[in-house]
Amino acid sequence: MTTERLYYNDCYLQEFAAQVVDRADDGRRVYLDRTAFYPTSGGQPFDLGTIGGIAVKEIVDEEDRIAHVLEAPLAKTEVEGRIDWSRRFDHMQQHTGQHLLSAVLVELYDITTVSFHMGAVTSTIDVATPSLDPKRLERVEERSAQIVWEARPVTISYEDSSADLGLRKASARTGTLRIVAIDSLDRSACGGTHVRSTSEIGPILLRKLEKIRGNTRVEFVCGMRAIKQARQDYRTLAEISRIVSVPFEDTPALVQAQVDKAKALEKNLARVAAELAQREGRELYAAAEPDAAGVRRATEHGPIDEVMRARAQAFASGSKAVFLAISENPPSVLLAASSDSGIHAGDRVKAAVTAAGGRGGGNQAIAQGSVPAEKLEAVIKDVLG
Ligand SMILES: [Zn+2]
Repeated sequence: MTTERLYYNDCYLQEFAAQVVDRADDGRRVYLDRTAFYPTSGGQPFDLGTIGGIAVKEIVDEEDRIAHVLEAPLAKTEVEGRIDWSRRFDHMQQHTGQHLLSAVLVELYDITTVSFHMGAVTSTIDVATPSLDPKRLERVEERSAQIVWEARPVTISYEDSSADLGLRKASARTGTLRIVAIDSLDRSACGGTHVRSTSEIGPILLRKLEKIRGNTRVEFVCGMRAIKQARQDYRTLAEISRIVSVPFEDTPALVQAQVDKAKALEKNLARVAAELAQREGRELYAAAEPDAAGVRRATEHGPIDEVMRARAQAFASGSKAVFLAISENPPSVLLAASSDSGIHAGDRVKAAVTAAGGRGGGNQAIAQGSVPAEKLEAVIKDVLG
């Protein structure tokens, strides 16, 4: 038995009486003789609400029938259905807004819509153009606003597919088509729910543009979503403006200047840190006592980074010098040796870490290796010889 879709003729029906004609999943999936619940279809998500006082979880379009998936089993046969109206009306605003936008894109620039997706926060249409100039986007937004405040009727009619219907997009369906029309602007074959006047769409805001497989994805919000989004954008900008202490219009230039400044400072800081590390290396060398063979040694603990490398190289630039850096986390060693020290840093580190199951190597002057934590002590002993 085909489910009668009450929303086809009355998108504003919020409550209805119906009979349960079939059920599955112990009464958690019910079929009614008639329903005002919209199932996920054509880019528009399903309705929520209650049936016989039980919350609806999902509405599924099974072609002839509509399945109502419920949170708990339903035993009754005569039921009352209630649509979550704020959710549905929001969907009607986004969906009708999409018809309007797609029609305006054709009217102004002959750009067709390929697909539509309604998300929980924003909606998108993919349009058949590799790019969309921001100026054109503004024109589309302004033209759409104009049609909204002209309060043009949005009407539903049923017409045969064999007639010349003048649709924006040809329909693949045959037989009787449900035509949704915006007065003097658009005619589309559509089974969705729509508001009755363009004025009920409310504000339409166009937002992000994205390139998607040769098309352009246009993000948009309508109605209360547009108001909430604009409010959120205002708050974000106000917060940035407060942090940087300049008026809104000056924030882009100031933020750019701050980012450039931070980058320059970072670069300078790295240079100063390297210079300081070299000085420390030379001072360590000067302070080290030569052993019986005249070799000066130093061992440092800490992260093995650019600063440590600079310190090690500066130390080993002195004659008869050996510098070892040890890092506990991650467990690793760095060895630097002067050319007259009699030590080949690369050979020594490679042998020690390989024996310990680690990895590493380098050249005569400097080498680095990492080892499993429990082998670090043994490697240090090996490297020091
Ligand atoms: Zn539609």
